[in-house]
Amino acid sequence: MDKNISYGSDYKYIPATSITSGVGIELLPDLFCYTVQIVNICLVGKPGSNDFVLVDAGMPHSSNAIISAVENRFGKNSRPQAIVLTHGHFDHVGAVIELVERWDVPVYAHELELPYLTGEKSYPEPDPTVEGGLVAKMSPIFPNEPIHLGNRVTMLPSDGTVPGMPEFRWIHTPGHTPGHVSFFRERDRALIVGDAFVTVKQESLYKVLTQEQEINGPPRYLTTDWSASWESAKKLEALKPSVAITGHGLPMEGEQLAKNLRKLVEEFESIAIPDDGKYMN
Ligand SMILES: [Zn+2]
Ligand SMILES: [Zn+2]
Repeated sequence: MDKNISYGSDYKYIPATSITSGVGIELLPDLFCYTVQIVNICLVGKPGSNDFVLVDAGMPHSSNAIISAVENRFGKNSRPQAIVLTHGHFDHVGAVIELVERWDVPVYAHELELPYLTGEKSYPEPDPTVEGGLVAKMSPIFPNEPIHLGNRVTMLPSDGTVPGMPEFRWIHTPGHTPGHVSFFRERDRALIVGDAFVTVKQESLYKVLTQEQEINGPPRYLTTDWSASWESAKKLEALKPSVAITGHGLPMEGEQLAKNLRKLVEEFESIAIPDDGKYMN
């Protein structure tokens, strides 16, 4: 292993899963969503070409599952042009080091997320006191120390373009984390959300397991800035996406997405924001 890059010392396998773990869904010919335990990764690009990008890097110890998903779709020994991150939480960078070492590809993230990806800054401790269920309760075991990607990680271009995803633009959607981004393509209004909002009640172990669809704000136990989160949800709703792949939960599209996103933005206080919790002031 390249000794200039490493996970935090609290890096570990997290024993949580859902019925969709290992399932892939092709939403559009060049947009594929794959579930790793309780989180989604995205492959952007058409099968048969080598021009594709991996968005987010799954759970700790999931590199074999991700490599298989990539090779099943793009062919044996295929590798993406780049890995692009919505943010640096453990469930979105869980296999990034093994993947970078295998593929030798660059990683991109928002400038404000870089301290959490270069060993400088830990995320705040997860808040197990937010109401919502067992996943919130187990959140203290989640890794929050920064990983160290050294010079393998680069900031996303400031002009809004996304390396390897020519038609997409990144959109800063802070709140869940300071440098959280989503990715949007105007042509067909495809949106890769990250955790700016999700389609499952992520705090509840039962709902995570069954993946019952339900619009929600960002996962509560890790969200620290609720007013920024609300603004970010409004920003995404205003784009009128036709299809949305969220970091957690099943993808949503069409009228169901429009209706739910409108409801989330209008009722953000009651749907998304916890009544209490340590990041409430
Ligand atoms: Zn997150
Ligand atoms: Zn997440």
